[in-house]
Amino acid sequence: MADHPRFGPAGVPPTFRMLNASLQDVPMLLREEGLDAFEYEAIYWGGKPQMQKEDAEAFGQKAKENDVWLSLHGSYFINFCGEKKVVEASKRRLISCATAAEWMNAYVVVFHPGFYGRKMRGEAYETCVETLKEVVKTMRNLGIRNTKIGPETMGKPSQLGSLDEVVGICEDVEQTQLVVDWSHLHAREMGRLGTLEDFRKVAEKIETRLGTEALKNMHCHFTKIEFTDKGERRHHPLNEERYGPDFGMLAQIIAEYKLRPVVISESPLLDLDAMRMRDILRELL
Ligand SMILES: [Zn+2]
Repeated sequence: MADHPRFGPAGVPPTFRMLNASLQDVPMLLREEGLDAFEYEAIYWGGKPQMQKEDAEAFGQKAKENDVWLSLHGSYFINFCGEKKVVEASKRRLISCATAAEWMNAYVVVFHPGFYGRKMRGEAYETCVETLKEVVKTMRNLGIRNTKIGPETMGKPSQLGSLDEVVGICEDVEQTQLVVDWSHLHAREMGRLGTLEDFRKVAEKIETRLGTEALKNMHCHFTKIEFTDKGERRHHPLNEERYGPDFGMLAQIIAEYKLRPVVISESPLLDLDAMRMRDILRELL
């Protein structure tokens, strides 16, 4: 697990693209910015990896040389609570993402569990957990043992992915990694994270149910977020005062509990806000 708190962007920053950088250049450019994590966006992938094995391995090697930790964000087209056909296609998508994650030595493949649809919450959760157990079994048969699957807390009340559900999946399914999207938690519950105590409650629930190591090693997403009664609406940069949550509070929790999370910036400013968060924490420590 991570040796210290790590920070990086979700996807290739626009400034890197302007430099005409290839994917293989990304780890070096991140290192130059003093960042040490990167989430590869496989968000539009289908049932087969959209990347050659050699390229994924070379990318993993570059990341290692530059001390950049990799994670991979799995396909958006996943719903483990839907009709059988949808669930089967979702399994293939998550496995194709996990395959590429293993090639590049990404430690987690992050995914959105699904939508309740017409199902009751409990039923949707059961379908999801039973399916994920099959996914993990298939991954093991394919030799995917280093990459874990990471259910993410989701930003809309119509989506499976409350903190309790995500923690539950981590309890019920093997080879899982907790993914806490703090902005989603904030939006899902209409501004839940307003005080340091609100952040502390989340940390304490995780520690009580999953243990201290799981809390210390959580994978995080962070950005300022705008929401309505239907949940998340839009991501905003860190310097926009009128939106929450406040990274300074998460930084205090990281310091207080001596956490070493990987924090991925999902702000529109990607790497710039990743550096900003790193500096906020550095100042505290
Ligand atoms: Zn996500």
